[in-house]
Amino acid sequence: MADFSCPICGGDKFVDFRGRTLEECKKCKSKARERAEILALKCLGYFESKKKKILHILPDRAAARFLSKTYGKGYTAKTIDSMAVDFVECESYPDLDALIESANDKYDIILHNNALEILSGLPMDAVTKLDGLLKPNGIHLFTVTVRGPRTDEGGGLMLDEAERSKRFGRGDRNRLFGAADFPRALATVRRQSNPRFNFAARFSDSDLDRWRIPPSEFRDINSNTVFYYVAPSFSEVVVEATAAA
Ligand SMILES: [Zn+2]
Repeated sequence: MADFSCPICGGDKFVDFRGRTLEECKKCKSKARERAEILALKCLGYFESKKKKILHILPDRAAARFLSKTYGKGYTAKTIDSMAVDFVECESYPDLDALIESANDKYDIILHNNALEILSGLPMDAVTKLDGLLKPNGIHLFTVTVRGPRTDEGGGLMLDEAERSKRFGRGDRNRLFGAADFPRALATVRRQSNPRFNFAARFSDSDLDRWRIPPSEFRDINSNTVFYYVAPSFSEVVVEATAAA
């Protein structure tokens, strides 16, 4: 049997979760995408300093515990009233739009999963706003729920809850993202050529498998794809401002 190791807690036992083989770490309960995001942060050097400010939106349990323990007071979690959180101290808002509207601090790391599909407002406006809250070299990482190649949009008053439930699998979702449409839209908004974190380019399949980040699932665009953006460093910002002056 292969030797497994969780990049969050070091645990070596994994169990199936909702039909996904060895998806959940038995010790910290992390799922593959949480391990992938923590791994991305590790390999980009974000854990080299404990003095960082983190904004975790709709936090997942294992990553929340790990990040709050690592960064202490620098860690802030925010959720919405319909997704109460009991595993970490968390500010709660009536909905995601109000949560994002309230965010006005500057952060080194902003992280969220499966949030943009429940937003009532425009997803790219939220992405732009959150990107704008990054400190120099700060990173914004997230996943979204992806189904098929085309984004299927029903936000605002376009569809009622019953119809959204039928079309998007859950009544609180306003859309599902397309594997072709979403990265393209994101790349345009961010003027970025590749908006996803490419695990296959950085790690071998056997390493990814050891961390239970199934290489096949992290190769294509799907609900496990980690999209990321790193804000320009301070010197790049100065150069841009000087060039524009
Ligand atoms: Zn673990």
